[in-house]
Amino acid sequence: MDDRTGVAVVGSINADLAAFGSPLPRSGETVIGSDFSLVLGGKGANQAIAAARAGAPTYMIGAVGEDMFRDLTLATLVVEGVDVSAVRITDGSTGIAHIRVDAVSGQNDIMIIPNANSRLTPDDVEASLSELRDRVSVVLVQLEIPLTVVQRVAEVCQDWKLRLVLDPAPAQAIPAAVWPGVSVIKPNELEAEMLSGIPVTDPTSAEQAARWFSQRGVGTVVITLGERGAFVMGPEGIVEYPAFPVTPVDTTAAGDAFCGAFGASLAAGAALPAALRHGLAGGALAVTVRGASPSLPTAEAVAAFLAAHP
Ligand code: ADP
Repeated sequence: MDDRTGVAVVGSINADLAAFGSPLPRSGETVIGSDFSLVLGGKGANQAIAAARAGAPTYMIGAVGEDMFRDLTLATLVVEGVDVSAVRITDGSTGIAHIRVDAVSGQNDIMIIPNANSRLTPDDVEASLSELRDRVSVVLVQLEIPLTVVQRVAEVCQDWKLRLVLDPAPAQAIPAAVWPGVSVIKPNELEAEMLSGIPVTDPTSAEQAARWFSQRGVGTVVITLGERGAFVMGPEGIVEYPAFPVTPVDTTAAGDAFCGAFGASLAAGAALPAALRHGLAGGALAVTVRGASPSLPTAEAVAAFLAAHP
Protein backbone atom coordinates (compact mmCIF):
# COMPACT_ATOMS: atom_id res chain seq x y z
CA MET A 1 0.00 0.00 0.00
CA ASP A 2 1.35 3.33 -1.00
CA ASP A 3 0.19 6.23 1.13
CA ARG A 4 2.92 8.71 0.34
CA THR A 5 0.56 11.67 0.01
CA GLY A 6 2.76 13.85 2.22
CA VAL A 7 4.95 16.79 1.24
CA ALA A 8 8.32 17.52 2.83
CA VAL A 9 9.57 21.09 2.66
CA VAL A 10 13.30 21.66 3.10
CA GLY A 11 13.80 25.38 3.52
CA SER A 12 14.10 28.58 5.46
CA ILE A 13 12.22 29.61 8.56
CA ASN A 14 12.41 33.31 9.43
CA ALA A 15 10.91 35.84 11.77
CA ASP A 16 9.74 38.68 9.52
CA LEU A 17 10.13 42.04 11.28
CA ALA A 18 8.46 44.72 9.20
CA ALA A 19 8.53 48.47 9.90
CA PHE A 20 6.02 50.68 8.04
CA GLY A 21 6.41 54.41 7.54
CA SER A 22 6.73 57.12 4.92
CA PRO A 23 9.04 58.40 3.70
CA LEU A 24 11.62 55.72 4.50
CA PRO A 25 14.70 57.06 6.27
CA ARG A 26 17.66 57.99 4.11
CA SER A 27 21.10 56.70 5.07
CA GLY A 28 22.01 58.06 8.51
CA GLU A 29 18.54 59.47 9.17
CA THR A 30 16.07 58.52 11.91
CA VAL A 31 12.33 58.83 11.29
CA ILE A 32 9.19 57.97 13.22
CA GLY A 33 7.25 55.16 11.57
CA SER A 34 3.56 54.29 11.70
CA ASP A 35 3.35 50.53 12.23
CA PHE A 36 5.27 47.34 12.94
CA SER A 37 4.57 43.64 12.50
CA LEU A 38 6.33 40.45 13.59
CA VAL A 39 5.23 37.29 11.78
CA LEU A 40 6.54 33.94 10.57
CA GLY A 41 8.21 34.08 7.16
CA GLY A 42 10.88 32.47 5.02
CA LYS A 43 10.17 30.82 1.67
CA GLY A 44 10.39 27.36 3.25
CA ALA A 45 7.86 28.11 5.98
CA ASN A 46 5.56 29.88 3.51
CA GLN A 47 5.58 26.92 1.14
CA ALA A 48 4.97 24.51 4.05
CA ILE A 49 1.92 26.52 5.12
CA ALA A 50 0.74 26.65 1.51
CA ALA A 51 1.05 22.86 1.17
CA ALA A 52 -0.68 22.23 4.52
CA ARG A 53 -3.55 24.58 3.65
CA ALA A 54 -3.79 22.79 0.30
CA GLY A 55 -4.54 19.61 2.26
CA ALA A 56 -1.23 17.71 2.24
CA PRO A 57 0.26 16.11 5.35
CA THR A 58 3.22 18.51 5.49
CA TYR A 59 6.60 18.04 7.14
CA MET A 60 8.96 20.98 7.65
CA ILE A 61 12.69 20.27 7.58
CA GLY A 62 14.68 23.31 8.68
CA ALA A 63 16.35 25.00 11.62
CA VAL A 64 15.56 27.70 14.14
CA GLY A 65 17.68 29.21 16.89
CA GLU A 66 17.54 29.02 20.65
CA ASP A 67 15.96 32.47 21.08
CA MET A 68 12.70 34.36 21.46
CA PHE A 69 11.78 33.73 17.82
CA ARG A 70 11.93 29.95 18.16
CA ASP A 71 8.51 29.60 19.79
CA LEU A 72 6.90 32.21 17.55
CA THR A 73 7.98 30.47 14.37
CA LEU A 74 7.36 26.89 15.49
CA ALA A 75 4.01 27.66 17.13
CA THR A 76 2.76 29.32 13.96
CA LEU A 77 3.74 26.31 11.84
CA VAL A 78 2.03 23.97 14.31
CA VAL A 79 -1.18 26.03 14.29
CA GLU A 80 -1.16 25.64 10.51
CA GLY A 81 -0.96 21.87 10.85
CA VAL A 82 2.67 21.57 9.73
CA ASP A 83 4.67 18.78 11.41
CA VAL A 84 7.77 20.41 12.94
CA SER A 85 9.40 17.35 14.50
CA ALA A 86 12.20 17.54 11.89
CA VAL A 87 12.97 21.21 12.62
CA ARG A 88 16.30 21.43 14.41
CA ILE A 89 16.83 23.81 17.32
CA THR A 90 20.37 25.16 16.99
CA ASP A 91 22.51 27.38 19.19
CA GLY A 92 22.30 31.05 18.30
CA SER A 93 19.55 32.99 16.56
CA THR A 94 16.59 32.21 14.33
CA GLY A 95 16.66 33.54 10.76
CA ILE A 96 15.47 37.14 10.40
CA ALA A 97 13.99 39.14 7.55
CA HIS A 98 14.29 42.84 8.36
CA ILE A 99 11.76 44.60 6.15
CA ARG A 100 10.98 48.28 5.62
CA VAL A 101 7.79 49.18 3.81
CA ASP A 102 6.98 52.66 2.55
CA ALA A 103 3.45 52.99 3.95
CA VAL A 104 2.39 55.19 1.02
CA SER A 105 4.01 53.65 -2.06
CA GLY A 106 4.17 50.07 -0.78
CA GLN A 107 7.81 49.87 -1.97
CA ASN A 108 9.94 47.75 0.32
CA ASP A 109 13.51 46.76 0.97
CA ILE A 110 14.53 43.63 2.83
CA MET A 111 17.70 42.45 4.55
CA ILE A 112 17.78 38.73 5.39
CA ILE A 113 20.07 37.40 8.11
CA PRO A 114 20.03 33.59 7.65
CA ASN A 115 21.23 32.67 11.18
CA ALA A 116 19.94 29.14 11.93
CA ASN A 117 19.01 28.56 8.28
CA SER A 118 22.70 28.62 7.41
CA ARG A 119 23.43 25.96 10.06
CA LEU A 120 21.23 23.35 8.37
CA THR A 121 23.52 20.46 7.32
CA PRO A 122 23.30 17.90 4.49
CA ASP A 123 23.56 14.98 6.93
CA ASP A 124 20.77 16.26 9.20
CA VAL A 125 18.48 16.86 6.25
CA GLU A 126 19.20 13.45 4.73
CA ALA A 127 18.42 11.80 8.08
CA SER A 128 15.11 13.67 8.31
CA LEU A 129 14.13 12.79 4.75
CA SER A 130 15.05 9.18 5.38
CA GLU A 131 12.54 9.02 8.24
CA LEU A 132 9.83 10.45 5.99
CA ARG A 133 10.43 8.17 3.01
CA ASP A 134 7.29 6.08 3.44
CA ARG A 135 5.06 9.13 4.02
CA VAL A 136 6.07 11.67 1.35
CA SER A 137 6.37 11.52 -2.42
CA VAL A 138 7.04 15.21 -3.08
CA VAL A 139 9.81 17.43 -1.68
CA LEU A 140 9.80 21.23 -2.02
CA VAL A 141 13.09 23.13 -1.78
CA GLN A 142 14.17 26.76 -2.33
CA LEU A 143 17.51 28.57 -2.20
CA GLU A 144 17.36 30.32 1.19
CA ILE A 145 19.39 27.45 2.71
CA PRO A 146 22.98 26.32 2.00
CA LEU A 147 23.55 24.99 -1.54
CA THR A 148 25.32 21.95 -0.02
CA VAL A 149 21.97 21.03 1.54
CA VAL A 150 20.08 21.62 -1.71
CA GLN A 151 22.55 19.35 -3.50
CA ARG A 152 22.14 16.52 -0.99
CA VAL A 153 18.36 16.85 -1.17
CA ALA A 154 18.55 16.50 -4.96
CA GLU A 155 20.82 13.47 -4.68
CA VAL A 156 18.62 11.60 -2.22
CA CYS A 157 15.43 12.50 -4.11
CA GLN A 158 16.97 10.94 -7.20
CA ASP A 159 18.07 7.80 -5.32
CA TRP A 160 14.78 7.37 -3.48
CA LYS A 161 12.49 8.36 -6.38
CA LEU A 162 10.98 11.34 -4.58
CA ARG A 163 9.72 14.14 -6.83
CA LEU A 164 11.68 17.29 -6.09
CA VAL A 165 10.20 20.71 -6.89
CA LEU A 166 12.94 23.37 -6.87
CA ASP A 167 11.98 27.04 -6.55
CA PRO A 168 15.31 28.68 -7.46
CA ALA A 169 14.82 31.79 -5.33
CA PRO A 170 16.76 33.85 -4.55
CA ALA A 171 18.42 33.06 -7.90
CA GLN A 172 22.06 31.99 -7.70
CA ALA A 173 24.38 29.62 -9.55
CA ILE A 174 23.31 26.03 -8.91
CA PRO A 175 25.85 23.14 -8.70
CA ALA A 176 25.65 20.77 -11.69
CA ALA A 177 25.06 17.80 -9.38
CA VAL A 178 21.65 19.25 -8.41
CA TRP A 179 19.97 19.12 -11.83
CA PRO A 180 19.41 15.36 -12.36
CA GLY A 181 17.51 15.12 -9.07
CA VAL A 182 15.07 17.92 -9.94
CA SER A 183 11.67 16.75 -11.22
CA VAL A 184 10.23 20.24 -11.57
CA ILE A 185 11.94 23.63 -11.51
CA LYS A 186 9.77 26.70 -11.01
CA PRO A 187 11.63 29.93 -11.72
CA ASN A 188 9.74 33.16 -12.35
CA GLU A 189 10.85 34.97 -15.49
CA LEU A 190 13.62 36.96 -13.75
CA GLU A 191 15.04 33.85 -12.07
CA ALA A 192 14.85 31.98 -15.39
CA GLU A 193 16.87 34.79 -16.98
CA MET A 194 19.42 34.98 -14.15
CA LEU A 195 20.08 31.23 -14.27
CA SER A 196 19.95 30.61 -18.04
CA GLY A 197 21.29 33.97 -19.21
CA ILE A 198 18.31 34.21 -21.60
CA PRO A 199 15.95 37.18 -21.04
CA VAL A 200 12.39 35.84 -21.00
CA THR A 201 10.27 38.30 -22.97
CA ASP A 202 8.00 36.16 -25.17
CA PRO A 203 7.12 32.49 -25.84
CA THR A 204 10.19 31.98 -28.04
CA SER A 205 12.63 33.18 -25.40
CA ALA A 206 10.69 31.29 -22.68
CA GLU A 207 11.19 28.14 -24.74
CA GLN A 208 14.92 28.83 -25.09
CA ALA A 209 15.27 29.41 -21.34
CA ALA A 210 13.21 26.30 -20.54
CA ARG A 211 15.42 24.25 -22.86
CA TRP A 212 18.48 25.43 -20.91
CA PHE A 213 17.07 23.73 -17.80
CA SER A 214 15.87 20.57 -19.55
CA GLN A 215 19.29 20.14 -21.20
CA ARG A 216 20.75 20.00 -17.69
CA GLY A 217 18.49 17.09 -16.75
CA VAL A 218 15.42 18.74 -15.20
CA GLY A 219 12.22 16.79 -15.98
CA THR A 220 9.67 19.59 -16.18
CA VAL A 221 10.31 23.33 -16.42
CA VAL A 222 7.58 25.68 -15.19
CA ILE A 223 8.43 29.34 -15.80
CA THR A 224 5.83 31.38 -13.93
CA LEU A 225 4.92 34.66 -15.61
CA GLY A 226 2.79 36.45 -12.99
CA GLU A 227 -0.46 37.70 -14.51
CA ARG A 228 0.46 35.93 -17.76
CA GLY A 229 0.33 32.45 -16.21
CA ALA A 230 3.02 29.87 -16.80
CA PHE A 231 5.13 28.44 -19.62
CA VAL A 232 5.64 24.69 -19.17
CA MET A 233 8.09 22.39 -20.94
CA GLY A 234 7.78 18.76 -19.86
CA PRO A 235 7.66 15.18 -21.07
CA GLU A 236 4.44 15.99 -22.98
CA GLY A 237 5.97 18.96 -24.77
CA ILE A 238 5.24 22.66 -24.40
CA VAL A 239 2.03 24.03 -22.88
CA GLU A 240 1.28 27.67 -22.14
CA TYR A 241 -1.16 28.08 -19.27
CA PRO A 242 -2.93 31.43 -19.01
CA ALA A 243 -3.37 32.90 -15.53
CA PHE A 244 -6.81 32.86 -13.94
CA PRO A 245 -8.40 36.32 -14.11
CA VAL A 246 -8.34 38.03 -10.70
CA THR A 247 -7.95 41.57 -9.36
CA PRO A 248 -4.53 41.66 -7.67
CA VAL A 249 -4.00 43.59 -4.43
CA ASP A 250 -0.58 42.23 -3.37
CA THR A 251 1.55 39.77 -5.34
CA THR A 252 3.70 38.76 -2.32
CA ALA A 253 3.98 34.97 -1.97
CA ALA A 254 2.21 34.16 -5.27
CA GLY A 255 5.08 31.81 -6.12
CA ASP A 256 5.00 30.19 -2.67
CA ALA A 257 1.24 29.65 -3.00
CA PHE A 258 1.83 28.13 -6.43
CA CYS A 259 4.49 25.71 -5.13
CA GLY A 260 2.47 24.61 -2.10
CA ALA A 261 -0.75 23.97 -4.00
CA PHE A 262 1.10 22.33 -6.89
CA GLY A 263 3.18 20.08 -4.61
CA ALA A 264 0.20 19.04 -2.48
CA SER A 265 -1.78 18.17 -5.59
CA LEU A 266 1.08 16.10 -7.08
CA ALA A 267 1.52 14.24 -3.78
CA ALA A 268 -2.21 13.50 -3.66
CA GLY A 269 -1.80 11.68 -6.97
CA ALA A 270 -2.84 14.31 -9.52
CA ALA A 271 -1.33 14.21 -13.00
CA LEU A 272 0.90 17.13 -14.00
CA PRO A 273 -1.76 19.23 -15.83
CA ALA A 274 -4.21 19.00 -12.90
CA ALA A 275 -1.47 19.81 -10.40
CA LEU A 276 -0.45 22.83 -12.49
CA ARG A 277 -4.05 24.07 -12.47
CA HIS A 278 -4.01 23.85 -8.67
CA GLY A 279 -0.76 25.82 -8.61
CA LEU A 280 -2.12 28.49 -10.94
CA ALA A 281 -5.31 28.78 -8.87
CA GLY A 282 -3.29 28.98 -5.64
CA GLY A 283 -1.12 31.75 -7.09
CA ALA A 284 -4.14 33.65 -8.41
CA LEU A 285 -5.97 33.49 -5.07
CA ALA A 286 -2.83 34.58 -3.19
CA VAL A 287 -2.60 37.86 -5.10
CA THR A 288 -6.15 38.79 -4.09
CA VAL A 289 -5.19 39.03 -0.39
CA ARG A 290 -2.63 41.32 1.27
CA GLY A 291 0.42 39.82 3.02
CA ALA A 292 2.43 36.63 2.68
CA SER A 293 1.05 33.77 4.79
CA PRO A 294 -2.42 35.36 5.23
CA SER A 295 -2.84 35.15 1.45
CA LEU A 296 -2.09 31.42 1.07
CA PRO A 297 -5.39 29.72 0.11
CA THR A 298 -7.01 26.62 1.60
CA ALA A 299 -7.88 23.47 -0.34
CA GLU A 300 -11.57 24.44 -0.15
CA ALA A 301 -10.87 27.90 -1.60
CA VAL A 302 -8.84 26.42 -4.46
CA ALA A 303 -11.49 23.76 -5.18
CA ALA A 304 -14.28 26.36 -5.22
CA PHE A 305 -12.21 28.64 -7.44
CA LEU A 306 -11.42 25.82 -9.89
CA ALA A 307 -15.07 24.78 -9.98
CA ALA A 308 -15.98 28.37 -10.89
CA HIS A 309 -13.24 28.49 -13.58
CA PRO A 310 -13.53 25.25 -15.54
P1 ADP B 1 6.80 34.64 -8.01
O1 ADP B 1 5.92 35.08 -6.87
O2 ADP B 1 7.67 33.47 -7.66
O3 ADP B 1 7.53 35.76 -8.66
P2 ADP B 1 4.80 34.75 -10.12
O4 ADP B 1 4.63 36.21 -9.85
O5 ADP B 1 5.15 34.34 -11.51
O6 ADP B 1 5.81 34.04 -9.11
O7 ADP B 1 3.40 34.07 -9.73
C1 ADP B 1 3.25 32.67 -9.60
C2 ADP B 1 1.92 32.26 -10.16
O8 ADP B 1 0.87 32.93 -9.45
C3 ADP B 1 1.70 32.64 -11.62
O9 ADP B 1 2.19 31.63 -12.48
C4 ADP B 1 0.20 32.77 -11.70
O10 ADP B 1 -0.39 31.50 -11.86
C5 ADP B 1 -0.17 33.30 -10.34
N1 ADP B 1 -0.28 34.77 -10.41
C6 ADP B 1 0.66 35.69 -10.07
N2 ADP B 1 0.22 36.95 -10.29
C7 ADP B 1 -1.03 36.82 -10.80
C8 ADP B 1 -2.04 37.73 -11.26
N3 ADP B 1 -1.84 39.07 -11.23
N4 ADP B 1 -3.21 37.22 -11.72
C9 ADP B 1 -3.44 35.89 -11.75
N5 ADP B 1 -2.53 34.98 -11.34
C10 ADP B 1 -1.35 35.42 -10.88
